[in-house]
Amino acid sequence: MIMPLIKGLQITLSHMFKKPVTLQYPTERPQIANTFRGLHALNVSHDKAKCVACYLCPTVCPAKCITVEAGEDQNHDKYAAKYEIDMLRCIFCGYCVEACPVDAIRMTEQFELANYSRADFTFTKERLLEKK
Ligand code: SF4
Ligand code: SF4
Repeated sequence: MIMPLIKGLQITLSHMFKKPVTLQYPTERPQIANTFRGLHALNVSHDKAKCVACYLCPTVCPAKCITVEAGEDQNHDKYAAKYEIDMLRCIFCGYCVEACPVDAIRMTEQFELANYSRADFTFTKERLLEKK
């Protein structure tokens, strides 16, 4: 009767001095691998989005969750008047980043994807430009 109790205490005590395998999230943050594919962000050049609305990323996206609408500026250059990603459908495959010919989109280290409404899972161009 007493031996199993001592054995149990031994195991408990031995674990008290080991490095914990869990993190005190969210105060402690996990180390993110540099190959991690997190939430998307649009890249900027000369204070505007680099996207030239070529439609390659919505074409290659297997989840069909990217919506692009092209516009034309005063210099007759194409730009993305609308750029949206439905994060509820995205499978984080990274094809959109690979396909982009002008490095206009990247995947960040951010992984927290919680919202209160379905509409908040639609990442608009403005939200994608805010991401670091
Ligand atoms: S990561 Fe994949 S599924 Fe998500 S938007 Fe890009 S291409 Fe589509
Ligand atoms: S993000 Fe890149 S691939 Fe997608 S529409 Fe814009 S320029 Fe084309």
